[in-house]
Amino acid sequence: MATRIVTHSEASCFTGCRLEWYFKYDQRLTTKTRSVALNVGVLVHEGVYGFYSTGSKEHAYESLAGLAGEMRTKLVKNHGEALTDEEMKKLVFGEKLAQALLWAYLEVFVPMDNFELALPEEPFLISMLPPGGKRASSKYKYAGRTDMIVRMRGTGRPVLLENKTKGIIDEEALYRDDQVLRYLHAKQRETGWEINDVIWRILLRPQLRISKVKGYMVDLGPDKTPLCFTRKTDLKNYLKDESPSMSFKKEDYPEGEDYSTKYLFDREETLDEYHGRVLDDVRSRPEHYARQFYITYPQSEIDRAGERLHHIASDMHKPSIYRCPGVRCMMCNFKSDLCIEDSPQNRAKYYVRPKLHPELPAMPGEGT
Ligand code: SF4
Repeated sequence: MATRIVTHSEASCFTGCRLEWYFKYDQRLTTKTRSVALNVGVLVHEGVYGFYSTGSKEHAYESLAGLAGEMRTKLVKNHGEALTDEEMKKLVFGEKLAQALLWAYLEVFVPMDNFELALPEEPFLISMLPPGGKRASSKYKYAGRTDMIVRMRGTGRPVLLENKTKGIIDEEALYRDDQVLRYLHAKQRETGWEINDVIWRILLRPQLRISKVKGYMVDLGPDKTPLCFTRKTDLKNYLKDESPSMSFKKEDYPEGEDYSTKYLFDREETLDEYHGRVLDDVRSRPEHYARQFYITYPQSEIDRAGERLHHIASDMHKPSIYRCPGVRCMMCNFKSDLCIEDSPQNRAKYYVRPKLHPELPAMPGEGT
């Protein structure tokens, strides 16, 4: 019997809404929406991996750039048509943001390293055992890829080093993180080591948004770029030392007029300005963007995560399909059509993915 691989994302989807799981993993449907963006988390991860496999920061940036190049080529090829200027800018920004976050990682985390590498980052594959571990599920296997396992200097304890890129940090949620509990369960079974500790290294994705810019603008004539000042005093100083090439003439404005109002502007940041501001923010406070936590997980929680995996495997072949009570719907790709009516017209809006879990390498005995 061919092995059916289940990943953490699939298991979470299954427990969240079986209808979404049916469309996404049983029928392998994926949306046709055009999305042109580099995955910043994956790029940073490649850079971190490049660093720990060679010890060279230079190599870390080269690894990141190499993967970004591959992703860009793939995106352009997939869409089969030239990208717009705005899309190109977003791709360039994605790579620069990943570089800035990698820089924060190397600046903040690497000086804290008090461990030796025990096992490199690698994929794992385990059977989904029933509670008590007496009989392995013959078809369903749980697969994933853990970051490095390290040994702490001094105590020799094996610890999972988990690198993540997140939008917000909820420290409480780290203690109940299903993915990490399942990964600890998998690594314990694979290595036979007592791995209960995790070093979380979290890079925060910048949450800054495009904002309005207020300031003062002086028109220097049709062929020149206008001058912009964000402070009224800078405008006043400039007008005092007014250059002869300026189209504005002081006598046009009677003594006492508040010319700062005349020059006031209020506009949205350009994409270039916004991108520059985000990158400056990461570079100016790396410790805000790179946070580390050390957590020891109770063995009972790790065992329970393993038991839940078995229950998922036993339920997956049952025909019951129920809908989630609504919490997942906001982000669901099927909410506006297939969830309402599973018809050929609605199915035509989706692709069928050739590989179920493209993020993983082919596993022994895996069915397609
Ligand atoms: S919209 Fe909600 S109920 Fe429908 S498939 Fe998606 S998650 Fe499930």
